[in-house]
Amino acid sequence: MYYQLNPLKNDKKQMSPAKTWLSNRLYKDVFSVTYHEPMSEHTTFRTGGPADVYVKLKPGSPYDRDKLAAAFADLLRYARDSGIPVQIIGGGANIVVADSGIRGITLDTRIDDGAAHPILADYGAVLNVYAGIRSDAAADFAMENSLSGLEFLAGLPGTIGGAVWMNARCWGKSVSDVLCGVDILDEDFKLNFEPFSAGEWAYKSGPYQDRKILILAASFNLKPDDRGAIQRQMAGYRLEREQKGHFRYPSAGSVFKNNPDLGKSAGKIIEELGLRGARIGGAQVADWHGNFIINTGGATSSDIRALALAVQSRARLSMGIELEHEILFIGDWPPPPPVLNLTGRNFNWNLSEK
Ligand SMILES: Cc1cc2nc3c(=O)[nH]c(=O)nc-3n(C[C@H](O)[C@H](O)[C@H](O)COP(=O)(O)OP(=O)(O)OC[C@H]3O[C@@H](n4cnc5c(N)ncnc54)[C@H](O)[C@@H]3O)c2cc1C
Repeated sequence: MYYQLNPLKNDKKQMSPAKTWLSNRLYKDVFSVTYHEPMSEHTTFRTGGPADVYVKLKPGSPYDRDKLAAAFADLLRYARDSGIPVQIIGGGANIVVADSGIRGITLDTRIDDGAAHPILADYGAVLNVYAGIRSDAAADFAMENSLSGLEFLAGLPGTIGGAVWMNARCWGKSVSDVLCGVDILDEDFKLNFEPFSAGEWAYKSGPYQDRKILILAASFNLKPDDRGAIQRQMAGYRLEREQKGHFRYPSAGSVFKNNPDLGKSAGKIIEELGLRGARIGGAQVADWHGNFIINTGGATSSDIRALALAVQSRARLSMGIELEHEILFIGDWPPPPPVLNLTGRNFNWNLSEK
């Protein structure tokens, strides 16, 4: 979701009624509110400017589906009626928030671990998971209940809501491969269960990317299996992520999607372009993984965007390949920098390479 409105920042006329509503009307036992919250504390890149209004679930909020749905619906309806934009986030593991921050309300859906609950059914097992639980914790919960199917989420940063929205894919398996349905607050803030429909899903893409809805929970088709075997597979996935350097520096994982039509991965293409180690400011293409941009310390979101755009531009100019960003640029971004328009030798002007 990208919003152009700027209704709250420096706008006392609108800020004041919004603050009054938030302090009087908001479900206080469910949410807490802060103002000018630094988004660098809520993104895995560790960058991003302030969110005007930051609403999050209170620690220890119980998982009560109907109550959460009512609380979210109330807030979203108020925001729509007042013309205030809302940015929903999960774990902030796939987003780059503008250095100037996010206008309006940023709604953090995360909840404490332990909120997943299984619903056992005759045909196997369906696990219904609140969207704000960490994907890794949901995988653990399934394993503890000897249910196989979510192993691929072990070690994946972010929440179930974000994984469903993105149709996250790890180790050759996508969320859509195990999804049986999603509870959403729809465009009219009504709670609906939407059964999985295969035609709406594809590689790293799903139906919610084009809709203004809130994912409240997701249900997965799992199979009873040997707990030890599930646990061993998950441990292997976590170890491999560690060994591949996923957590060495702040990042948001893969920057570009892997388009199967290109015949090679985005990381390989970037490596062939000689861009491993390329750097703008504190942002760097990891020298061990072409498709990772890392924050080496002190990077701004603008550094990250400039580098991602420069890599994309280089692939286009040198190889005629269009790399598609997987990371999402969120918040109050200025127009892209002029480096995009530079060609040939000039292109290197802003890009220092190892
Ligand atoms: C080290 C590292 C490794 C990674 N490896 C992988 C990988 O192997 N495979 C992979 O697919 N990804 C990977 N990622 C990216 C990231 O982990 C996934 O995309 C993850 O699913 C994002 O979840 P999130 O909760 O952080 O979403 P966010 O980044 O917070 O949000 C992403 C999008 O989802 C929307 N959203 C989130 N929650 C909700 C909700 N409840 N309702 C409606 N919309 C919502 C947001 O509005 C936003 O548009 C990696 C990231 C890192 C940092």
